[in-house]
Amino acid sequence: MTTNTLKLYDEDSYLSDFSATVISCVEKPNSNQEIVYEVILSATAFFPEGGGQASDTGTINDIPVIDVQEKDEIIYHILTSPLAEGEVIKGTINRTRRFDFMQQHTGEHILSGLVYKYFNYDNVGFHLGADTVTVDFSGTFTEEDIRRIEELANEAVFQNISVVAVYPEKEALNSMSYRSKKELSGAVRIVTINGVDTCACCAPHVKSTGEVGLIKITTYQNYKGGTRLEIQCGKRALTDYNKKEKNIQNISVTLSAKIYETDEAVKRLKEEKLSLEAKFTALSAKLLSYKVVSIPSGDEPYALFDFETQDNQLRNYANLVKERRNGIVGIFIPSAKDSSISETDEAIEYRYVLCAKEIDVRQIGAELNKAFQGRGGGSKEMVQGSIKGGRKDIENFLKNYA
Ligand SMILES: [Zn+2]
Repeated sequence: MTTNTLKLYDEDSYLSDFSATVISCVEKPNSNQEIVYEVILSATAFFPEGGGQASDTGTINDIPVIDVQEKDEIIYHILTSPLAEGEVIKGTINRTRRFDFMQQHTGEHILSGLVYKYFNYDNVGFHLGADTVTVDFSGTFTEEDIRRIEELANEAVFQNISVVAVYPEKEALNSMSYRSKKELSGAVRIVTINGVDTCACCAPHVKSTGEVGLIKITTYQNYKGGTRLEIQCGKRALTDYNKKEKNIQNISVTLSAKIYETDEAVKRLKEEKLSLEAKFTALSAKLLSYKVVSIPSGDEPYALFDFETQDNQLRNYANLVKERRNGIVGIFIPSAKDSSISETDEAIEYRYVLCAKEIDVRQIGAELNKAFQGRGGGSKEMVQGSIKGGRKDIENFLKNYA
């Protein structure tokens, strides 16, 4: 039977290089049916995936460690190449990723501890990955609550409080009150931040809260009856700040607005856009009424191509044209994705409308769709749809339709 793996990260979360002996190495297919090697060491600094936190990455004898899992106190390192049993190895964890995870995780404890203290809500979900950290709570918050918690959390950072992890004796543990997500068995590791939080947790933490840096709640939303917070701590928060600052600076320059007045400037711009759109629609309708004056009257089928008008005017167009002609009229406007096209005979996508005063246009609509890979439909008086074809071919189709 294999003995428990000695967890070096338990004692020293800053340890990134270590030596250990290979206890076993087993060849296995992974979920993609690729051959990988499951390695058990006498000791490890690799923190396995667990409790919502992704595993450490790094190398063992320069072989990449692609995953780390734990089962019954034994830690399994998944490698792409084998190691020899009994071999003494050199392990190196990705220190940057580890420290980032420590900043996020201790930051999460500070927030969860304060939420428990002031709101009595439980932390009911936690995910810590390379890109996002989410924390779920069993209750809801106002915007004011969120900013208050955030401020208290950062106060705890400024106070640079020690973060202490210990395995208390059973008796001491029984008399302690601490946060815990599940019923615990075996030795329980308690992580304490004095005055802020006491929580059962196996993960590596920073030594004191000052190392967490800024704690920022970037979003919060209702989630399963409670709230899901997205948070960024330390260097992640700085990276996020930089991205957002760049974004707001660009808006500021583009709109010639001061940084703190950009939201007002964007609102004004949106209002102007809506008012211009309304004017544009009114003018387009007016323009159509001028255009239709030049359409000859007559009874024979008639095709009209218009490369200037927007396809959302098709219905208005049809109603105006119908008043001037008795026969079938087809109006064709390049579809929105081809709307920049100037007059062409090449096959492009058209939005169309077919209409007539006293003729049922559904049949010709169906045949038009069939001839030009189109789709659409409508009533006896008016059929709308889209087709793809050349102008000449469409004109001929209509002219020859009898
Ligand atoms: Zn934890």
